[in-house]
Amino acid sequence: MKIGIPKEIKPNENRVSLVPSGVSALVAAGHSVVIQSGAGTGAGFSDEQYRAAGAEVAESAATVWAAAEMIVKVKEPIKAEWPLLRAGQTVFTFFHFAADRELTEAHLASGATCIAYETVQLANGELPLLTPMSEVAGRLAVQEGAHYLEKLYGGRGMLLGGVPGVLPAKVLVLGGGVVGTQAAKMAAGLGAQVTVMDLSLERLRHLADILPANVQLLFSSRHAILEQIAEADLVIGGVLVTGAAAPKLIRREDLKLMQSGAVIIDVAVDQGGCVETTRPTTHAEPIYLVDGIVHYAVANMPGGVPRTSTLALTNATLPYVLQLANKGWQQALRDNPALLKGLNVVEGQVSCAGIAEAFAMDH
Ligand code: NAD
Repeated sequence: MKIGIPKEIKPNENRVSLVPSGVSALVAAGHSVVIQSGAGTGAGFSDEQYRAAGAEVAESAATVWAAAEMIVKVKEPIKAEWPLLRAGQTVFTFFHFAADRELTEAHLASGATCIAYETVQLANGELPLLTPMSEVAGRLAVQEGAHYLEKLYGGRGMLLGGVPGVLPAKVLVLGGGVVGTQAAKMAAGLGAQVTVMDLSLERLRHLADILPANVQLLFSSRHAILEQIAEADLVIGGVLVTGAAAPKLIRREDLKLMQSGAVIIDVAVDQGGCVETTRPTTHAEPIYLVDGIVHYAVANMPGGVPRTSTLALTNATLPYVLQLANKGWQQALRDNPALLKGLNVVEGQVSCAGIAEAFAMDH
C-alpha cells in the first residue's frame, strides 16, 4: 500500500505521524511511503533520515494526498486540507468529530474512510492511542509545576524537593489515572511529599503497590480536598469522568483557603478543567493568576515536547498502521475489535454512535 505523511499545518503542531524507524518497518513489509518535505522537522527528524529509511520525499502536501491510499496524520485535517481528501482513501489520525459538525460534514462529503485514534479501544476499556499523551502530560505537569513555583512567575519560590534541612514541597494530585500516576512518580522522584486522591478504591490499592513511600493515597471527598488544598504547594488536576465534563473539585471560593503563590496545573482542562477558575491557555501564554494562585491550563500539553510526544504516539500507532497497510482497512477492522472501534466515518456514512448522536445523524 502507498502511505502518505503530510506535514501538520494546525498552528503550533510540531508532531509528525511516523518516525523514520516506522518508515523502515512499513517498507520492510512491502509498502511504500511518501512524506512531505519538512514534516519531521519540528520533532527533530530530517528529510534525509526519512529518505535513508526508504521514504520518497515530496515537496507539496497535494502530491502526498494525491499519491496515498492511506494518509496517516496527527491532528484532524483542517479546512485547507479538506479539498485534498478523496473517496476511497483511508485517513488515520486524531479527529474528535463529535466536537465539530463542520469537520464531520466535510469528511462525510469527501467519501474517505476515517479511523480515529481517540476511539480505538481495547477490551478492558483502555484507549491505547490516548494513553501515551496522558503519560506525557502527567510527567510534564510536574516539570511545569516546578518551574512556575519559582518566584519570578508568582509562585511560592520553593524547590519541590527542598534541600537538606528544609522540608520538600507538598504536591496534591487529583485523580490517580494515567496522568495522576505519572505526575505522582515524577514529583516523588524529585523528593516532594505527594498525595494522590481518587474515588476508586481499587485504583488506590493498585497505586499503593506501585508508588514509592513518599506518595500517600487518599480517598477523594469534598472534605478531604479542602483539607489538602490548604497545605498544597502544587496541585495537579488529572481527573476524568468518561464522556462527561470534569467535575469542579476546587471551586472559586476555595482558592482563599490556599497558600498565596501555590500553583495549579489543571491537566483536565480539555474536559473543562477540575478547577472552577480554569480557562484554557496556550504554550505561548501558559499561566494567569487568580487570588494569588498561579493557574496553568495548557490544552495541548504534549505539543510542548513534540519530540517525546511524537515518539510516544508513534510507538502506539505503528502496530495499527501496519495492520491497516497489510490487510486493507476492511480486513484489519474485522480482525481487530480494538481498531474497529476507531471507525468513525466510512464512505459518506457516520459509523460511530457518539458522533451520530451529537449531530442527530443516521449511522
Ligand atoms: P484516566 O481515566 O486514566 O484517570 C482519571 C482518574 O480520575 C480515574 O482514576 C478516576 O477514578 C479519577 N476520578 C474521577 N473522578 C474523581 C474525583 N471526583 N476525585 C478524584 N479522582 C477522580 O484519565 P487520564 O488519561 O489520566 O486523563 C485525565 C485528564 O487529563 C483527561 O481529562 C484527559 O483528557 C486530560 N489530558 C489532558 C492533556 C492536556 O494536554 N491538557 C493531555 C492528556 C490528557
